[in-house]
Amino acid sequence: MSKQVIVIGAGIIGASIAWHLTKAGAQVTVISESGAGGVATPNSFAWINASWGNPEVYFRLRIRAMAEWKRLANDLPGLPLNWCGGLCFDLPADRLEAYAAEHSSWGYGIERVDAKRAAQIEPNLVEPPEFAVYVAEEGVAEPVAAAKALLTDAERRGARVVTGTIDRLALTNGKVKGVVISGETMAADEVVIAAGAGAPAIAATTGIKLPIETPAGLIVHSRPYKTLLNGLVHAEKLHVRQTAEGRIIAGTDFAGGDPGENPDATARDLFAAMKAALRGGDGLELDFHTVGYRPNPVDGFPIIGRAGGVAGVYVAVMHSGITLAPAVGLFATREILDGERDPLLGPYGLSRFAQ
Ligand SMILES: Cc1cc2nc3c(=O)[nH]c(=O)nc-3n(C[C@H](O)[C@H](O)[C@H](O)COP(=O)(O)OP(=O)(O)OC[C@H]3O[C@@H](n4cnc5c(N)ncnc54)[C@H](O)[C@@H]3O)c2cc1C
Repeated sequence: MSKQVIVIGAGIIGASIAWHLTKAGAQVTVISESGAGGVATPNSFAWINASWGNPEVYFRLRIRAMAEWKRLANDLPGLPLNWCGGLCFDLPADRLEAYAAEHSSWGYGIERVDAKRAAQIEPNLVEPPEFAVYVAEEGVAEPVAAAKALLTDAERRGARVVTGTIDRLALTNGKVKGVVISGETMAADEVVIAAGAGAPAIAATTGIKLPIETPAGLIVHSRPYKTLLNGLVHAEKLHVRQTAEGRIIAGTDFAGGDPGENPDATARDLFAAMKAALRGGDGLELDFHTVGYRPNPVDGFPIIGRAGGVAGVYVAVMHSGITLAPAVGLFATREILDGERDPLLGPYGLSRFAQ
């Protein structure tokens, strides 16, 4: 008989895990209080990358995840992905060069560009950088549409997606046997906690501690506008891209800027800076801003795997979930159904925090 799995969470991570589990033959029920699309996921900048600032072992997981997005797009045509490329100059020249040298040696598709080439890549930058790094293989997902597409296809393959709030996990003799929603127990062979910032409270009901912090990140969204940008632009204190709908979205960092004491004022200032940086942007209008909370394990790396000491639970909580989702879905499915842990997940078990 096929395994019954409850996936808690309908953001990009829960959606990907549910899709992969269902495709592999599990009987899946997705439970979320938000409905399809999640909580952090709609507030994401959604850059798919293996860019600077991480050790090689994490780079390898991210680069694999980028490849897995392409595999997933073949399996599920119409996924809203755009391999638009990223132009990066948010570091001083010496650090940018060090990034280019290091990541080139790891096989990342780095092109060093001067102002002339930068202006070819993004003709509407008011001040093209004298020196930048361009990575053509980087891209974006439209995150809510991607999560919904995965969940809709999972339902078509037999998964159930229900709205509800988990009170606690149902534990018998040290093994999780399901979840309790509104006082009712729903049984399962395995429970996956893909609940983002809500994960620690759920895990705590079985004594599992998830060390997660949730920094806020503000992103501004223009009204839909004519095409001004070809891809991602990462300038100092201004990370910007244009969505499939034509909105220009920006943060002081891709992970969103600090909203400060007055988020409305922060959004207006950021929007003005973004407008000033783009030729032809005079008619841009601020439509709204979002403040999202990144589910970020305290050491900055994902938590993916079983929780030692409590059988029947699998945890998948992380920042960079848009980049990582397809690999996490695939690897979690193999581990849950076949007991095979992918070597790329080696550093990301929960046990690392016990040391
Ligand atoms: C401002 C910002 C910018 C970002 N930029 C990038 C980027 O450029 N690239 C990138 O790769 N990543 C980026 N991220 C990170 C990325 O968006 C997240 O890692 C990802 O969205 C997490 O997805 P998730 O499915 O784990 O969580 P979520 O989308 O938060 O979903 C959690 C789900 O769990 C459910 N849930 C929680 N508690 C309960 C409960 N008790 N009962 C039932 N359901 C529950 C919620 O309802 C929801 O459905 C960014 C994040 C932010 C906020």
